[in-house]
Amino acid sequence: MAMLDLVIEGGEVIDGSGAPRVRADVGVQQGRIVRLGELAGVAARERFDARGRIVAPGFIDVHTHDDRLLLDAPQGAHPKLSQGVTTVVTGNCGVSLAPLCSAVTPPAPLDLLGSDAWRFDRFGDYLDALEQARPALNAACLVGHSTLRVRHMARLDRVANGDETRRMADDLAQALESGAIGLSTGLYYPPARAASAQEVIAVGAALAGARGIVTMHIRDEADAIDEALREALHIGRALGVDTVLSHHKLVGKANHGRSVQTLAAIEEAAQTQRVCFDCYPYNASSTMLLPGRVAQSDDVRVTWSKADASAAGRSLFELARERGRPPEQLAAELQPAGAIYFAMSEDDVSRILGHPMAMVGSDGLAHDTSPHPRLWGTFPRVLGHYVRERKLFSLETAVHKMTGLSARRCGLHERGLLASGHHADIVVFDAQRVADRATFDHPTEPSAGIDAVFVNGRLACREGRTADVHAGRVLRHGRSD
Ligand code: ZN
Repeated sequence: MAMLDLVIEGGEVIDGSGAPRVRADVGVQQGRIVRLGELAGVAARERFDARGRIVAPGFIDVHTHDDRLLLDAPQGAHPKLSQGVTTVVTGNCGVSLAPLCSAVTPPAPLDLLGSDAWRFDRFGDYLDALEQARPALNAACLVGHSTLRVRHMARLDRVANGDETRRMADDLAQALESGAIGLSTGLYYPPARAASAQEVIAVGAALAGARGIVTMHIRDEADAIDEALREALHIGRALGVDTVLSHHKLVGKANHGRSVQTLAAIEEAAQTQRVCFDCYPYNASSTMLLPGRVAQSDDVRVTWSKADASAAGRSLFELARERGRPPEQLAAELQPAGAIYFAMSEDDVSRILGHPMAMVGSDGLAHDTSPHPRLWGTFPRVLGHYVRERKLFSLETAVHKMTGLSARRCGLHERGLLASGHHADIVVFDAQRVADRATFDHPTEPSAGIDAVFVNGRLACREGRTADVHAGRVLRHGRSD
């Protein structure tokens, strides 16, 4: 065999399948893993010392809103690379940057992707631009149903008519053709609240033929979650495709503990349809600032506000007291704005995260002034807090939830496993030290214990510092790259 480009030597390999770790060297050539085993005598241009470290597949963040973030070369530390993430799935919750041309900022929550990059009339144009920008990590991209609604409907407060539905379905078919991996929905959010299950099923008609997936931010994660789950499972079944329930959680005190029932319902559905879910390892959520959610929460933190930038990072309740206003009224005054809601129970978070069907996804919001710490801390938090400290599950299981399971469920070929022939997306970390450092007060601190991150065989991040800002690729669905 010709000389290898890289040997990562001496580490404990956790291959992403859930199998127990083994001592092995990993040989890389032309961006692929070509050998695993004892490679001490094999010639290599570079050797990376991984003694005392875990060597695992690069993490796959299955739930992101990084559509806009990926277009620019990162300045300084990267929120995802620094966690060991090598692939992100973009366009979740019904919100994708394409296809939509708009000089004005589209309605919330689309504005979580910023105001200045709504310039892609076709989904393929976005993928081309991303390819040209050469992203820092790999991207697999979903088309947002709410984005399609904003594009084709003058009024969003009703079900799409036949003509609008056809145009949305055509856009999706074209996007799948150009390499989108599927459709995302956000029936919870104002731009899609009026949409029916039937509308989503009609828009998603092309998914089954293209072997695309559907990811869903379901209509309700609080009192009406049973009905919302039934609707989502019905949509997935009718579409006949792999279904991902986004950031599964239960919001509001009255609903704490109900994950026992929701997980049982998902398990039952899984006997007859392909379904799984993602979640993030925190008992606080984050999205647009919705006055209606204030009363459900023990605390609410403002993540950004156009009306009052100084509110970012502050507790809404504290601000309301200072200003002598009811919190709901202040929430209305701060619009447009985003927030973090403390309204989940830790028992539900642990139960959901520990479930065999759960994949890890950050749902981080990169453009928030004072973001939820999940943007920078999700993956190390699972490995440090939930595995090492709480012993919720094994390190092998954790890695599987971040790699092999995710790649299989999202249809990402030859990624997510350390196996011969797979792309060389690799993370080297210290199981004793790995930890999230981002907190609600200091949300953009890079994590600890992630030694090195290789994207397509190139060293992209070393001890939290970005080393190569262009090692990623656009993972076009249905094409090997
Ligand atoms: Zn969501």
